[in-house]
Amino acid sequence: MLTFDENPLTSNSNKHDFTDTYFKKNFFFTQQLVNTTQQDQNHQILPEQSMEDQGKITLCLDLDETLISSTMTRQCDYDFSFKLQPTAEGEKSEEYFVKKRPNVGSFLRRCSEMFEVVIFTASLKPYADKILDELDPRGDLISHRLYRESCSYFCGSFVKDLSLLNRDLNTVLLIDDLPSSFQFHPENGLQIPRFDYHLKKKQNQNLLDNCLVGVLKILETIFIQHEVISIIAQYN
Ligand SMILES: [Mg+2]
Repeated sequence: MLTFDENPLTSNSNKHDFTDTYFKKNFFFTQQLVNTTQQDQNHQILPEQSMEDQGKITLCLDLDETLISSTMTRQCDYDFSFKLQPTAEGEKSEEYFVKKRPNVGSFLRRCSEMFEVVIFTASLKPYADKILDELDPRGDLISHRLYRESCSYFCGSFVKDLSLLNRDLNTVLLIDDLPSSFQFHPENGLQIPRFDYHLKKKQNQNLLDNCLVGVLKILETIFIQHEVISIIAQYN
């Protein structure tokens, strides 16, 4: 077991505080999920692995604050922005400003060479797809996209239930900034520091972020040894 100081992936920011407008707005949608997931525990949310991914470890990646940082507050420092059209009469369109985590492009490309890459996000599809289409414009890096409806809502958190993935759990890894996301399968989860670019900038904090470079070193070991759980145990 690595100590706190030795572990470059340890973060103090563990819990989403639900102050984000996007999460608030979709709270009632979340309530519906509780019933959906409880009724259908045997539902498998991924198809069988494609021929191309056959035998590969399944790497699930969170999106917000793991691969990107987004805000609805107008910014001048961002990589791309997009608008979501209103879903109900009387609502306004929403504009999001997105900063990519440093090295996310090369990170995703190398991950796609080694693993079956699944984006597993608690965000809604219209929002997530706008971002994922920017991160993977040719659609050749990410094998599957899972959204909020694939999460289980449990004790105030969106949990990503890895037992529903239709995969051998010995070959599944979830990387997420929130440990609550993998609380059903803590041995399969790797928590990484939260990437909240705009908040850090507002607070004049250090904006250097080499997290994905460090994570890739761990992933290279997992790939070479074709082993998830014993390697991840050194970092949790
Ligand atoms: Mg996140």
